[in-house]
Amino acid sequence: MSKGPVWRNFAGDQSCRPAVFERPTSRAEVGEAIRRAAEADRTVRVAGAGHSFTDAVLTDGTLLSLDRMNRVLDVDRATGLVRVEAGITLGALSALMYDHGLAFANLGDIDVQSIAGATGTGTHGTGITLPNLSAGLKSMELTLADGRTLEVDEATDPDTWRAARVSVGALGVVTAVTLQAVPAFTLGAVDTTAPLAATLDNLDELVDGNDHFGFFTFPHSPLAMTKTWNRTAASPSPRSRLGEWFHDMFLSNYAYWGVCLLGRSRRGLIPWLNRVASANSGTTRYTDRSYRVFATPRRVPLTEMEYAIPREHAAEAVRVVREIAERREFDVPTPLEVRFVAPDDAYLSPAGGRETCYIAVHQFAGIPWEAFFRSVEQVMVAHGGRPHWGKRHFQTAETLRRQYPHWDRFQAVRARLDPHGLFTNAYVERVLGPVGAGEPA
Ligand SMILES: Cc1cc2nc3c(=O)[nH]c(=O)nc-3n(C[C@H](O)[C@H](O)[C@H](O)COP(=O)(O)OP(=O)(O)OC[C@H]3O[C@@H](n4cnc5c(N)ncnc54)[C@H](O)[C@@H]3O)c2cc1C
Repeated sequence: MSKGPVWRNFAGDQSCRPAVFERPTSRAEVGEAIRRAAEADRTVRVAGAGHSFTDAVLTDGTLLSLDRMNRVLDVDRATGLVRVEAGITLGALSALMYDHGLAFANLGDIDVQSIAGATGTGTHGTGITLPNLSAGLKSMELTLADGRTLEVDEATDPDTWRAARVSVGALGVVTAVTLQAVPAFTLGAVDTTAPLAATLDNLDELVDGNDHFGFFTFPHSPLAMTKTWNRTAASPSPRSRLGEWFHDMFLSNYAYWGVCLLGRSRRGLIPWLNRVASANSGTTRYTDRSYRVFATPRRVPLTEMEYAIPREHAAEAVRVVREIAERREFDVPTPLEVRFVAPDDAYLSPAGGRETCYIAVHQFAGIPWEAFFRSVEQVMVAHGGRPHWGKRHFQTAETLRRQYPHWDRFQAVRARLDPHGLFTNAYVERVLGPVGAGEPA
């Protein structure tokens, strides 16, 4: 235990100085930390890998990091069930599972998140038949406010199960999870550019006709930078290390970072820079292990908002969001990202109950983002949008409850598991409201 150092998120724009910072190594130590916090009247939050853009982690109470609880506890190759401690990162687990012939069915753009942090905010990849990562969980071990350990799964307590999978850390500390892996697979990837207009006109065909389809599009450019990834029986023939570094690190990070810096200092150049960046992104074809295709390094400092809207509104919403991003007053040197996700049944899953299109907007560090994000949010809300819990948004419990049909059921579970609001902070209070504020289920 130590007096907390300053904790910062990955983007560097969220920070706090917790009264106590602890890195437990076991469930028992988590329980002890919770007991000490409760006795001292301190609230408790957990930091995963700090890759949320919101203030989801921040606390002036006790902050726990589970980065030392990162072991694989059990792998059953026959069933594909994998039990891990909650602090393991998606990337480390992907590599370990591959050695057992197993894989995540899908992943997002990066894999440095902890499994509990990623699932707790509804982190997702792209692929219309594939739900977010939390839907791949089979059971979860929580340490509750009273120090009890609760193992939750669908069979024993479906209500708590649907609440616990996406809970932004508001129910307790997740100490271990069991996930359903799939047999390891290879993806054939084609990353290329196509006219945005044609991409939007043929969106259903592209989304339904591929295992994983998504795209980026820069404001002011007529192009979409598409990712079309399909399972293949071919053996992996990955890019050379140099080729991979050149594309994923140099072009996608350092060169792009330089372009953003130039755009930030000479705002009038942004439309031209965006067109040049899109037109020169080229075509890359490769075949590799699934997790090596899904996730790439992302180093450019930016902030992000992402909304989940019903899939059928995708093309129209993209067109409108691009118009907003092209307004001179917003100076946006960063692309929109558009992805597709299958429905799931977690009470607070942004993709809950409906086929979903996620649209993300970004802003480079140092360029004002709030007015831009607020304008985009209005469009998203008009389309029934639900924000990604780990990315910036301006909603409150009052507005969010209308978007979630099972809101009150989540709140009833929360009131039962954390009756005194031990696992709260300003973010949780803002987006979920005080404990007990929902209607009785
Ligand atoms: C560069 C970048 C790329 C991204 N790409 C994607 C993407 O492709 N798809 C996508 O959906 N999202 C993406 N994200 C968002 C990211 O996946 C989520 O914000 C995710 O929650 C981050 O995981 P983390 O481990 O860093 O958790 P943190 O951000 O540290 O925490 C997230 C939440 O989980 C809670 N938490 C963490 N661990 C525990 C635990 N053990 N018990 C209880 N609560 C816990 C925290 O208190 C917090 O509320 C990206 C973010 C960045 C910065």
